[in-house]
Amino acid sequence: MSERMNQVITAAERDLLHTYNRFPVVFDHGEGTSLYDIDGKRYLDYFSGIGVFALGHANRDYTEALKGQIDKLLHISNYFYNEPAAEAAARLKAVSGMDRVFFTNSGAEAVEGALKAARKYAYTRDGFADHGIIAMENSFHGRTMGALSVTGKKAYREPFEPLIGSVSFARFNDLASVEALVDDKTCAIIMETVQGEGGIHPATEEFLTGVRRICDERDILLILDEIQCGMGRTGSMYAYQRYGILPDIVTTAKAIGGGVPVGAFMLRGKAAEHSLVAGDHGTTYGGNPFACAAITEVLKIYERTRLTDHVRVMGDYLYAQLEKLMAKRPDIIEHRGVGLMQGLEFDHPVGDILNRALDNGLVLINAGTNVLRFLPPLVIEQEDTDEMLRILERSLD
Ligand SMILES: *Cc1c(COP(=O)(O)O)cnc(C)c1O
Repeated sequence: MSERMNQVITAAERDLLHTYNRFPVVFDHGEGTSLYDIDGKRYLDYFSGIGVFALGHANRDYTEALKGQIDKLLHISNYFYNEPAAEAAARLKAVSGMDRVFFTNSGAEAVEGALKAARKYAYTRDGFADHGIIAMENSFHGRTMGALSVTGKKAYREPFEPLIGSVSFARFNDLASVEALVDDKTCAIIMETVQGEGGIHPATEEFLTGVRRICDERDILLILDEIQCGMGRTGSMYAYQRYGILPDIVTTAKAIGGGVPVGAFMLRGKAAEHSLVAGDHGTTYGGNPFACAAITEVLKIYERTRLTDHVRVMGDYLYAQLEKLMAKRPDIIEHRGVGLMQGLEFDHPVGDILNRALDNGLVLINAGTNVLRFLPPLVIEQEDTDEMLRILERSLD
């Protein structure tokens, strides 16, 4: 490591609050699926900044669109209208099947808004508050207090309790465990369509359609958190589209801004018409013209390049290659996932593999202690996956 890189790391360790154990590398710039550190070393990016850089780094159309908006108007607040927000909302509705959009600055904020909308829907219907929410074990919804309240990992929640009340946890993919928790006060069931941080677990069709049916029968809102698995990651714009159902509320973030910090929650039908009204919710930055210009350009590029079709092809290729790897390695116990969101579960922690991979020029991440997570830019080509596998195999032992 160069003296310069060492200095940056030392300064960051001194000045930043230590909430992350970072990998010892300082990145400088990116190009497509390549990342370069400040010493000029190249890495293959098979992580895309936690699934954010779907379009790869330095996509020309995207950066030109951002520059154009910077020169016009960055921010105006939600007291006024702006064209990029109207266009981004219309485009998001078209690809999601939802009716109304609220823009946020992050995924966690989208979850907060979704929870508020669900509570408000039940309050409006019943005339009283105190409604409950069912979430899933092993889930991840973000680090703010509301999002944390519905996050399944106890170690993340416990130091910060009491969190928001009346949250109970069912077992993911176990419909009976959901049924056992539903009561007259349940206002929402929240889950990831494909659990990300929890180790890449897709909902089974039986489970998701079963939860949808329970919600319909009991006037409960189904909130699907598609912050990680949405935006084309699984080969359809939103993962629920692969199940033939629609949620009442969707949260989306990560890839929608292509790198600009942005998120949204989207509502449909009764959830859109009978929940949050003027004065109930707000944000200074959410929906600002810069962020919305980013969303619009991202969605245009997805459409123009038929990116979801590409994800299906690349996802199948990755799937087949990881199956071959698993057949060779007795320490790999399961292979899960869909599209370009896949995981390999080992019978041991994968931290050392990640460090060796980084040394060998591959950026890869885990999902939980024992799971390698494959979350590449959606624009990868077959040779990127081949390169990833070559480096990974060298890094396994
Ligand atoms: C990343 C993530 C979040 C939180 O998003 P932030 O932008 O980090 O607040 C919520 N839910 C899921 C499924 C995520 O992957």
